[in-house]
Amino acid sequence: MRTSEIAKRYLDYFAAHDHLVVPSASLISPNPTTLFTIAGMVPFIPYLMGEQTPPKHRMASNQKCVRTLDIDEVGKTTRHGTFFQMLGNFSFGDYFKEEAIHYAYELLTTPQDKGGYGFDPEKLWMTTFTDDEEARSMWKNEGVDPEHIQIMGMEDNFWTTGGPGPGGPCSEIYVDRGPAFGKEGGPIADENRYIEIWDLVFENYEVDNVKSKTDLHIVGELEHKNIDTGAGLERLAYLMQGKGNIYETDEVYPVIQAAEQLSGRKYGEDEAMDVKFRVVADHVRSALMIMSDGVRPSNNGRGYVLRRLLRRTIEAMRVLGVEDAVLPTLFPTSKAAMEPSYPELNDTFHEVSESAYGEEDAFRRTLSAGIDILDVAVNKAKQESGAGAVVSGDDAFKLHDTYGFPIELTLEMAADQGVKVDEAKFRELMAEQKNRARADALKKRHNVDLSVYDDFKKTLAKPIDFLGYTDMSARAT
Ligand code: ATP
Repeated sequence: MRTSEIAKRYLDYFAAHDHLVVPSASLISPNPTTLFTIAGMVPFIPYLMGEQTPPKHRMASNQKCVRTLDIDEVGKTTRHGTFFQMLGNFSFGDYFKEEAIHYAYELLTTPQDKGGYGFDPEKLWMTTFTDDEEARSMWKNEGVDPEHIQIMGMEDNFWTTGGPGPGGPCSEIYVDRGPAFGKEGGPIADENRYIEIWDLVFENYEVDNVKSKTDLHIVGELEHKNIDTGAGLERLAYLMQGKGNIYETDEVYPVIQAAEQLSGRKYGEDEAMDVKFRVVADHVRSALMIMSDGVRPSNNGRGYVLRRLLRRTIEAMRVLGVEDAVLPTLFPTSKAAMEPSYPELNDTFHEVSESAYGEEDAFRRTLSAGIDILDVAVNKAKQESGAGAVVSGDDAFKLHDTYGFPIELTLEMAADQGVKVDEAKFRELMAEQKNRARADALKKRHNVDLSVYDDFKKTLAKPIDFLGYTDMSARAT
């Protein structure tokens, strides 16, 4: 089943259960301090917080998301994209836990020829919050094997905004990929074998004292209880399409194939190279989607994230052996793969692609200048210390600072020649750089990316102590 069909079935199912289906909001969060939309619930926050009246008390969407927090996982796990789509059904003071559990289970287990996803109930596992006996008995009532219902604590299965306000337990749904993919024992034992596909959040409490989850204080029950769920479309697609990971699904894989053609290498022959292929496929798509929502490469904020994605794509393609321009092939390929779901990509593609190609040209000029300097540094290191040669931190820093040559590339290219880099010294020099404070602040924003509640801080009656979003980043439905 194609990814677009999986999304359609989800939205059709919830429309048939009286939900108002709304289109995805932009990847650019309306909040100026938030870089990207990181979860399906973000556009619904005013309704979840009771700040605004929703057009309907049951809603559903397929939301475009970007999570830079997951960037280091990309290509290495089977399930993390920087761009991905989160399906979600929401109840604002309407139905609660029992219906949310029933809907999810019914859609997942109804046979495909009857409009569902056709997952084998034997392969489904659930986690529930420690105290949530209610959820466990509801899953059992649906027919879930009690052995497949596991218990997780505050850290994993309790959601808060990160500040005083709504909170509540959640229940996550996992699919067992089978013994070939890891050890037995459910998601508690192995999250690579058991893949999380859907998170149901039952917002029924008002909480405060959320500085530490273990010390959290439940003030009482919310008058209007909410349901907020998030299902990863690419994760459903890879499992339903019988693929090895999200990068091999129909909306992503064509870019891997194009990269194979450009590089003359085959995907699937060498794990280290496969990671690069997957990074390319992921980043090209993310860059395309971010640019189509209006972002252009720059040195700060979203533009900087985009620049990093484009540069990492080009760097990965170099490691795959391609030194010519790659985006004029990869961008149209990704656009063609995403077009069935997002026909509007065509409206801006000319301008988007021109900007991306210009960025690639500029970066390639930087690279060719840097590569000569790096060669000199590598040869110097070899002459000085032979076998255990190390490129000095000073040289790596100079490459970065003077030539804009990324440290990742210095590391990779030095490694290709059997040479290490004094990364510790490089980092030290970076830290000494006078605009470190600014760079750090930016970096933090890219990583945290979760100040979605800032507006509410202003609008809530009582000022709240805003504590940051480590919780939201871990579980941001
Ligand atoms: P994980 O622990 O696997 O990274 P998560 O707990 O961060 O996932 P949630 O914040 O609960 O995930 O998001 C809801 C759903 O969105 C997940 O169940 C998953 O299916 C999907 N999802 C989350 N992050 C990603 C990602 N980076 N790439 C693809 N799908 C994702």
